[in-house]
Amino acid sequence: MADKLNLEVITPERLVLRESVDEVVVPGLDGELGILPEHTALISQLQTGVLTYRQGSDSRQMHVSGGFVEVQADRVAVLSDVAERPEEIDLARAERARERADKRLKSQNDEVDFRRAELKMQRAMIRIQLAGKGH
Ligand code: ATP
Repeated sequence: MADKLNLEVITPERLVLRESVDEVVVPGLDGELGILPEHTALISQLQTGVLTYRQGSDSRQMHVSGGFVEVQADRVAVLSDVAERPEEIDLARAERARERADKRLKSQNDEVDFRRAELKMQRAMIRIQLAGKGH
């Protein structure tokens, strides 16, 4: 019986996190998905949001956006388009990105790709929410 989860968060660019944890909550397409050791094996798509991982009473959060989570009894592998831990987030950059996305979403310009602007906006909002929350 597994009593821990080996959590790995990987983007196309790098290994963002590898830790042994008690619980993981990921932003699934249909809402939050909580995972404890011995969870049923599954693969699920992720949306832009907050991933929470807990060891004992210590809970931490990070930003993930897109990709998949693969769950096994003793393992959670997150393969995400982008991911950052709070201490890696550049708040000023996220605020600039939010302003750019906001202007695009409000513009009447037919050239604007609204879905892309909306994704940039969601990422910026999560980054702003998490920036500075690192331990
Ligand atoms: P920007 O316009 O500022 O580049 P973006 O939303 O277009 O923002 P993404 O496409 O989501 O950026 O990410 C591109 C890369 O830059 C990823 O590796 C991501 O982790 C990193 N990144 C983007 N914004 C930030 C930020 N505010 N702080 C730290 N890393 C960031």
